[in-house]
Amino acid sequence: MEEIFTMAYELAPLPYDYAALEPFIDAETMKVHHDKHHQTYVNNLNAALAGHPELAAKPVDDLLRDLAKVPEEIRTAVRNNGGGHANHSIFWRLIGPVGSDGIGGSPTGPIAAQITADFGSYEAFKKTFNETAAKQFGSGWGWLVFQAGKLKVLSTPNQESPLSHGLYPILLNDVWEHAYYLKYQNRRADYLAAWWNVINWHEVNKRFVIAKG
Ligand code: MN
Repeated sequence: MEEIFTMAYELAPLPYDYAALEPFIDAETMKVHHDKHHQTYVNNLNAALAGHPELAAKPVDDLLRDLAKVPEEIRTAVRNNGGGHANHSIFWRLIGPVGSDGIGGSPTGPIAAQITADFGSYEAFKKTFNETAAKQFGSGWGWLVFQAGKLKVLSTPNQESPLSHGLYPILLNDVWEHAYYLKYQNRRADYLAAWWNVINWHEVNKRFVIAKG
C-alpha cells in the first residue's frame, strides 16, 4: 500500500506566557490571537494545500516569495492564510516578556545606528512607523524593511507580506483589530504606542543582519 505523507504546517507554541506582555498587551488578547486566530490561518493554509503536497512541503516563506508558482485557484487562499501564518510566526518572536533583557527601551546593536542614520532618531522612527500603521485602512500590518541600502517603513493590507515583493521583514506590527480590540477597542494609536514597550531588539537585530544580506 502506498504511504501517504501529510506535510502539514503547525502552530508553534507561544515562546512565553500569555500574560508576559502585560500591561501593554493583555493575556486574553494573546491567548485568542495566538490560539484561535493564528491557528485558523494554519488550518486554512493546510486545507488550501491539501491537494498540493509539492507546495505543502515548502517553507511558508518560500510560497509567499513566489506566489506566481501557486495555482491561481488557491493563490488567494495561500496569500491570505500563508501570509497569516508567516506574519504571526515572526510577530510572536519580535515581542517578548516585559522586564527581560533586550525587551522594550531604546534600540540596541546595529539596528540602533541604522535607525539614527535613516530617520534621525528613534523618536522620529517611531512616529513614522506609528503614523504609517495607524493610516492603514482596515486590517493590515506595519513593516520595517531594508531596501536600496536604507530602512523603509511601509504598510500592507490584510495578510500581504513584503516577501511577496522581494523584501525581508525586519520588524512588523499587527494592526488587525483582533490584535488589540479587547484592551484598546477603537484606539489603534494607543496600542501602537504601547507596543514599543515589548519589542525584542535582539530579534530585530537578527532580522536586520539577514535583511542586509
Ligand atoms: Mn493577527
